[in-house]
Amino acid sequence: MVHEYDAVIVGAGGAGLYAALEASKTAKVAVVSKLYPSRSHTGAAQGGIGAALGNLDEDKPEWHAFDTVKGGDYLVDQNAAMILAEDAVRAVYELEHMGLPFSRTEDGKIAQRRFGGHTRNLGEAPVRRSCYAADRTGHMILQTLYQQCIKNNVEFYDEFQTTDIILEENKVVGIVSLELKTGEIHVFRAKAVLFATGGFGRIFKVTSNALANTGDGPAVLARAGVPLMDMEFYQFHPTGILGMGILITEGVRGEGGILRNNSGERFMERYAPNLLDLAPRDMVSRAIMTEIAAGKGIRGNKKIDDYVFLDATHLGREAIEAKIPDIADFCRTYLGIDPAEKPMPIQPTAHYAMGGIPTDVDGRVTDGTTLWEGLYAAGECACVSVHGANRLGTNSLVDLIVFGRRAGQHIAKYVKDAKLSPLPADAQDRFMVIKNRLTDGKKGPHPGPIYKEMQESMMANVGVYRNEAQMKKAIADVERLRQQFTELRLEDKNPQFNSDLLGILELENLLDLAYLIAGSALNRKESRGAHSREDYPERDDPNWLKHTLATLDTKGSADPGSHSIRIGYKSVDTSIWTPKPRIY
Ligand SMILES: Cc1cc2nc3c(=O)[nH]c(=O)nc-3n(C[C@H](O)[C@H](O)[C@H](O)COP(=O)(O)OP(=O)(O)OC[C@H]3O[C@@H](n4cnc5c(N)ncnc54)[C@H](O)[C@@H]3O)c2cc1C
Repeated sequence: MVHEYDAVIVGAGGAGLYAALEASKTAKVAVVSKLYPSRSHTGAAQGGIGAALGNLDEDKPEWHAFDTVKGGDYLVDQNAAMILAEDAVRAVYELEHMGLPFSRTEDGKIAQRRFGGHTRNLGEAPVRRSCYAADRTGHMILQTLYQQCIKNNVEFYDEFQTTDIILEENKVVGIVSLELKTGEIHVFRAKAVLFATGGFGRIFKVTSNALANTGDGPAVLARAGVPLMDMEFYQFHPTGILGMGILITEGVRGEGGILRNNSGERFMERYAPNLLDLAPRDMVSRAIMTEIAAGKGIRGNKKIDDYVFLDATHLGREAIEAKIPDIADFCRTYLGIDPAEKPMPIQPTAHYAMGGIPTDVDGRVTDGTTLWEGLYAAGECACVSVHGANRLGTNSLVDLIVFGRRAGQHIAKYVKDAKLSPLPADAQDRFMVIKNRLTDGKKGPHPGPIYKEMQESMMANVGVYRNEAQMKKAIADVERLRQQFTELRLEDKNPQFNSDLLGILELENLLDLAYLIAGSALNRKESRGAHSREDYPERDDPNWLKHTLATLDTKGSADPGSHSIRIGYKSVDTSIWTPKPRIY
């Protein structure tokens, strides 16, 4: 079945919905999403959205932009960070006017709380900058934007898995998607396509990310020859629920929660004397791992499964129930612990991809040399780059609504004059090659063990701390698993809701991205932000103040065993602040 639109948005999280909302003001727009829109991971965002409203403390967008640049260890493109911080203020008020129910101060203003790395006056002291709706901020954003899209007559194709992009030279023709309900293939012809498919935390064993966060967008584009930027920078959030990775928002520390080791010591005093528990996430995760390695974790066994405590008992039951009710519920449900009475056992959890599809500040996909005409990306799958080597808490939600909106506006302008391109005869071929192999009647292994091994190897070898031997091991593991992947066969051949097939398609995406992450990480011989190498412990600006561009070289083959990685670079915009060491 073939559909025609001015623009197709792949993904119905915060970024996709905002882009759809803007583009649909003048253009015919479809949103294609593998999940029902309100199940997108944006709905899981808890802590808040950063904007220098200055409702409780003096604040300025310039300070927000500076914190973003410094938090990102100076790999951030500084003009983009300035746009992010300045536009955040307008964006939050716009969401308020659309009906988003923010928590309030006593005098009725939008309430704000502290978050890691957000300071007043270029690092002087913590500032209350995160606007929130209890600990359900993302849920509220998603519901608000979805309602607005419905009002604007955006057409939704829910539970459609996009498997391929169709490009003619470097110009967009459309996409190929699998309708999960029927197993039918749909081709969407469009003048513009925006990828807003979210993150890929599922590459790692312990993650805060939902099951669906498998990086489909970046993987589809990587196979089409688009380089991915800064993939080595993957953020581990310090406070995941022990063993499960379910996130405990930084908002708990924003409200006064304290990290403690096995002697009850507030160890962050030794790592970040000024910002303490609210230092940026990369630093706090490293501090936790260092405590554990020194035998100061709770079990004291110095192993990867050791942990520390997040203590919120002193906040009082009333504050906990009012400010972090969902977190309190998670702890009672999954741990059998009441955070008003006992500290929470936590460990770092794979959380956020700083890297992704390279774009300019209007969401257009470009690596600085080539511009893919009609192709856009926004949200976590994109890399503008406003997060550099480490994202500050609350800045992803800002990224979605600032750059999602800008991309939507650019698309609306672009499609006015652009024309639909003719469909090539082989649009569905790649999908059919894979489908035919999976159903050729041979017997093959189950994808489960491949998935598990990839997650375990990436967690152990490309985690909070890295070194050459470990990263080489991860690459060898992923290469072997990619080879095994070609032997997989479908057990369930039913066309309707074939979760076997969906799982295999997602696994291919994860394997491609794991390969690009490990390859980019091995290549970068320095420590910066979330990329922390034991063998190169210092940041090295003269040699490495540059973005990585990693291209998956498929050599025209659908066989992952024949693929390799090519590395290139792009300069960083440091036009406002000179890079300095990060002291907090
Ligand atoms: C538990 C948790 C808490 C967080 N808390 C915060 C916070 O407090 N503040 C903050 O700033 N950030 C937070 N983050 C990060 C932030 O929520 C995410 O980075 C952000 O919501 C991603 O939004 P998105 O629009 O890019 O993608 P998502 O919301 O993940 O949506 C992706 C969309 O793409 C669709 N999709 C994916 N693949 C395909 C495909 N192949 N075909 C069709 N559709 C596809 C999905 O159906 C979905 O609709 C948190 C993240 C997590 C996991």
